[in-house]
Amino acid sequence: MERVRLLVFNAALGVLDYRVPQGMTVEYGSVVVAPLGPRQVLGIVWEAERLNAQDVPASKLRPLLEVLPVPPLPAQLRRLIEWTADYYCAPLSSVARMALGSTAALRGGGTTTEYRLTGEEPKRMTPQRAAALDALQGEQGSIRELAELASVSEGVLRGMVGAGLLEPVTVDLDRPYPPARPDFAVPKLSEAQKEAADTFVAAVKDHAFAPFLLDGVTGSGKTECYFEAVAEALRLGRQVLVLLPEIALTENFLRRFEQRFGVAPILWHSSVKSSERRRAWRAIVHGEAQVVVGARSALFLPYASLGLIVVDEAHEVSFKQDDGVRYNARDVAVIRAKFEAIPVILASATPALESMQLAEAGVYRKIELPDRFGGAMLPEIEIIDLRKEVPERGRWLAPRLVEEMKDRLARGEQSLLFLNRRGYAPLTLCRHCGYRFQCPNCTAWLVEHRFSQRLACHHCGHEVPVPDACPECGTADCLVACGPGVERIADEVAEILPEARTALVTSDTMNTPEAIGEFVAKAEGGAIDVIIGTQLVTKGYHFPELTLVGVVDADLGLEGGDLRAAERTYQQVAQVAGRAGRGEKPGEVLIQTRHPEAAVIAALANGDRDAFYAAETESRREAGAPPFGRWAAIIVSSEDQAEALSAARAIGGTAPNLPDMLVLGPAPAPLSLLRGRHRFRLLINARRSAELQKALRDWLEPLQFPRGVRVSIDIDPYSFV
Ligand code: ADP
Ligand code: ZN
Repeated sequence: MERVRLLVFNAALGVLDYRVPQGMTVEYGSVVVAPLGPRQVLGIVWEAERLNAQDVPASKLRPLLEVLPVPPLPAQLRRLIEWTADYYCAPLSSVARMALGSTAALRGGGTTTEYRLTGEEPKRMTPQRAAALDALQGEQGSIRELAELASVSEGVLRGMVGAGLLEPVTVDLDRPYPPARPDFAVPKLSEAQKEAADTFVAAVKDHAFAPFLLDGVTGSGKTECYFEAVAEALRLGRQVLVLLPEIALTENFLRRFEQRFGVAPILWHSSVKSSERRRAWRAIVHGEAQVVVGARSALFLPYASLGLIVVDEAHEVSFKQDDGVRYNARDVAVIRAKFEAIPVILASATPALESMQLAEAGVYRKIELPDRFGGAMLPEIEIIDLRKEVPERGRWLAPRLVEEMKDRLARGEQSLLFLNRRGYAPLTLCRHCGYRFQCPNCTAWLVEHRFSQRLACHHCGHEVPVPDACPECGTADCLVACGPGVERIADEVAEILPEARTALVTSDTMNTPEAIGEFVAKAEGGAIDVIIGTQLVTKGYHFPELTLVGVVDADLGLEGGDLRAAERTYQQVAQVAGRAGRGEKPGEVLIQTRHPEAAVIAALANGDRDAFYAAETESRREAGAPPFGRWAAIIVSSEDQAEALSAARAIGGTAPNLPDMLVLGPAPAPLSLLRGRHRFRLLINARRSAELQKALRDWLEPLQFPRGVRVSIDIDPYSFV
């Protein structure tokens, strides 16, 4: 090639043409450095005809500077990047960036310097040094990472290097990973499991696109089944990607993987330290990383020879990214499998309605595991009608639930209380004047956190200490907490069962792998009697002594009238119910509600999943909602409310009049103020036949807005705030 077209990592620049200097060889997908004015930019050599740009005369082209020492991005990945940008109406460069990991990794392997404690006693002790010595036991990392870990400044740590308390260690960035062993600990599968596993194994051997929906009740051994497919890929020397919805789940997965394959898988998520990310990325592009487990960002990495993708807990909404490129990793995983010509397994006990529909339509092959492994029974589910069985004044747990918990404690079994609300109370107000604490940056109440003694906004992170007096009327000691969060439920448990050992599981308390690991070990070891948690505890865990699950407020998810509210409630409650009775003892689930007549609650009580899916499918069909119709949202925001409104009106005023597309709005978004930006929203409901993305592009591209205005498109939105 003599001239090349680059996709550069700057959405504003987009596409630029260059000359290839003599002696340099580039291919499509090569990662290169190019001059741009006085600066340098990074770019990927792309098929020119696939990128729209003005042809620049050859005489004006500047030469490329350098080809980076990494394999070119494979064609199927380039196609995936194009597909994603096109489908989600996102800039190509923003999607491509997700494939590259870190710039440092592109520069090659080599070594880096990390630090660890020497074990020396400090001559001079300060509180910061003491904190660092305590926090950094057994840790190793860059100064920046260690500073973050120990919550001290980098200056303190540099001082400690000088004082001989920390020592540098040279780390080889490309040191190989120990190989996973497909036959390390092969389980004996049940008949049903074996049938499922055989199907997956055959598909891996086939090396053809094959999407599966692995629909198995909680505790049926879905993981064991897809592990057989992983083993087959290992035998064939092909790479595997396992996507999990939350970092919190990777700890548990890691241990099970290690038990089955003898070594840990390679982790990829935002809290993996930078030298490990570099090492992982390089092993991934060279085909040496065998099994990568990660959050959605692992999906776009340049695997050299992918053989299988697994999306576990595939119904989880956190696979949908809600900023930047607003893609759904579950859906893009299927597309990636198609481009790579490999099988993809979507595993869930409560599949998304969209996935069920695709299985119904024969697009996905459905593999069912209807029974729990080892003869364990699914738990009994009962409803507590809170209008009839009223909790004591100032309490949230109905007498029947309390009795059952006492009973479990007496028998040495575990209980789990689920409430999907962090903090102590969702709203704080002044008894005297009625003042309510609201976030100055968001349309949201401040949530009281008793542990940290703060009022916090869960949207932007704004925090204030809990004041002694009302800021409005000045009355002292007049603030009241309204409604429960998990911290308040934990207080209630401490009052009614003072001798119980409890664990509070929320993203506030379980924010490191160590904390999660410690909790799991304690819960498994029977050192915890009552677990109180948010959605973090609903999935993945297997605690044999857990025989009672209490859902504190099943109505919570139904508020707000979101399109998927009923489905989400069903999934959450069914998942948390699935934690009960996984061992030999049968489990029981009590669901507190004020709406026992609601279809979703009734379906849960009757264990009638089919009825729920059927009813939900019908109501979606009537509403023209996914999977029968499609939704898109346009969010217009600005720090200036008038500016945002006028931009939103300009968009509304030029809405296309198409027979298969209905435009609603603009209207203030439910969160009309978020992180200091005023927001308006337009919703588009389209028939499946509509060319939605093209219509959106034709509509929005000609419009121009003031610089402070941000317009973002959300295709197949999950969040309706
Ligand atoms: P699911 O993901 O479907 O909820 P898991 O894969 O977590 O189910 O399995 C539930 C429990 O049963 C786990 O502790 C798992 O190790 C165990 N289990 C499942 N299948 C087998 C098997 N064939 N042999 C031994 N243990 C199994
Ligand atoms: Zn806020």
